[in-house]
Amino acid sequence: MNIDLWQGVAMARNTVQFQKGLSEATFEQRYGTEEKCRAVVMASRWPDGFECPVCGGRAYSEVKTRGLFQCSACRRQTSLIAGTIFASTHVPLRLWFRAMYHVTQSKQGISSIELGRRLGVTQTTAWKLKHKLAQVMMERDASQRLTGRVEIDDAYLGGERSGGKRGLTRLARRRSWPPSRPRPRASRCA
Ligand SMILES: [Zn+2]
Repeated sequence: MNIDLWQGVAMARNTVQFQKGLSEATFEQRYGTEEKCRAVVMASRWPDGFECPVCGGRAYSEVKTRGLFQCSACRRQTSLIAGTIFASTHVPLRLWFRAMYHVTQSKQGISSIELGRRLGVTQTTAWKLKHKLAQVMMERDASQRLTGRVEIDDAYLGGERSGGKRGLTRLARRRSWPPSRPRPRASRCA
């Protein structure tokens, strides 16, 4: 199950994929804190490390409370989540990740009420999260059908994958997150 983090940039950016059967305990261990989720989004946004969109500077400082990265050279502040699905609500990344987990793991789908209960947010907020996720998952499915390609994701939440599914072998070798260096996107004809 793929989730595009980046809206309106179909096929251009990393996606997050949750392994089916990822246990809740393992999920919590890997993505249970705001810090860990930020690291995932950061690696997705800047696979080679921070780069200022204005001057290309690589040195930065973080304004943690506001989720901003400030370029040390030109002082421009860049939001970590601008342009991502996470910018659509004020919910912490940690809860977005939990929502992604529950939405992708439940076979019959999950109601907004149940999602809200599990996340500890209102049903209205849960509904917004759920609909945003459904929307981006649908868009991704549609774009895959259109291009007839299967993208292998740079960001693969869940880590280990056993079995030798064709085209996914590179994922089986990925044991840690974030990856030590960016990998080229790979694709194959469907
Ligand atoms: Zn700069």
